[in-house]
Amino acid sequence: MSSSRTYKFVLQPTSRQLAAFECLLGLQRELYNAALEERRGCWKWNQRSVSYFDQTKELTQLRSARPDVLSFGVTVCRGTLLRLDRAFNGFFRRCKAGEKPGFPRFKGPGSFVSLQWVDRSGWALNQDTGRLRLYGIGHIRVRLHRSIKGIPKTITIRREGRRYWVSVQCVDVPAEPLPKTAKSIGIDLGVGSLVATSDGELIQGPRFGKRGHAGLEKAQRDLATKVPGSKNREKAKQRVAAHHRKIANRRRDFAHQTSRRLVNGHDLIVYEDLKITNMTRRPKPRPDQQGGYEPNGAKAKTGLNRSIHDAGWGQFISMTIYKAESAGREVIAVDPRNTSRTCSGCGHVSAGNRHGAVFRCQSCGHEAHADVNAAGNILRAGRARQLIAA
Ligand SMILES: [Zn+2]
Repeated sequence: MSSSRTYKFVLQPTSRQLAAFECLLGLQRELYNAALEERRGCWKWNQRSVSYFDQTKELTQLRSARPDVLSFGVTVCRGTLLRLDRAFNGFFRRCKAGEKPGFPRFKGPGSFVSLQWVDRSGWALNQDTGRLRLYGIGHIRVRLHRSIKGIPKTITIRREGRRYWVSVQCVDVPAEPLPKTAKSIGIDLGVGSLVATSDGELIQGPRFGKRGHAGLEKAQRDLATKVPGSKNREKAKQRVAAHHRKIANRRRDFAHQTSRRLVNGHDLIVYEDLKITNMTRRPKPRPDQQGGYEPNGAKAKTGLNRSIHDAGWGQFISMTIYKAESAGREVIAVDPRNTSRTCSGCGHVSAGNRHGAVFRCQSCGHEAHADVNAAGNILRAGRARQLIAA
């Protein structure tokens, strides 16, 4: 069994290469905006839609008209057109679904920061020398902190603040089955502590947000006071972005480490399938009899929403799943209903069993941390599912 995986590395370009990246980003932004203009124009004047395929064919005409655009190769240009195509596909899909569509927008100088090489031409990664060769730029040093497995198919280069990163998308990544441990674990994804396990462990993630928040809020307040279009505003914007990146990095590191530990130690991992998008939906206002609005718990829920996003459950689960897949482990999602009200000792179900963070069974007296008790129920539900499937 094999799968696909993305590896992300930091690039260490020379100052000449940095300048080349800036130039390339500028040219690709121009191409993106021109291609968007073409699509808009055709639709407006001819009611005709232009496809990705049409636009890639037109790239050859650039050879005489704008040779500078092609000086970094045609692959990266196709990547930009593909990105526009995806933006349009998203737009059409949202239209169809009756959501707020959001027409693809022109990109300003600061908002175009990523480049894609959509096939294996125009670039080569040498793992022995730690160099990424890019057509038109040269050999760029890559900090390869881990080795790549599988076959590299496409790359994406992104500027984040002052740094450039390369993401290498690999296919046919061979599975690396781990020896069996004969252990199973249920995990409860809580709000306060990120993960409670059926073994009784509470794995406290970094308080994403909360710690980083003071700095972020200050940076945001600072940004609001700056004159639009000014240099200081640009700098303040960079500071806000840097705070966001830092929080995201900490979250990702934690998710990586914790999912790795769970997968290494257990043959079966069971989690509750909380539909995260449902849980984080904005609460509807509730009109009262007098024509005003009753409190709808929006404030409490906003706090909870933030915690849910902070905890980064979706990311954590997807990391667990792909690591498990590669290691030959089993991951099962179960219905979260009643997991917090049921006694993991005797199966008694009652809302009265729960006292805040403590679970105390009214029937058998079993006492545990509420999330650990829930994790026990989750594991049992997963084992039952496994039996039915077998
Ligand atoms: Zn009980």
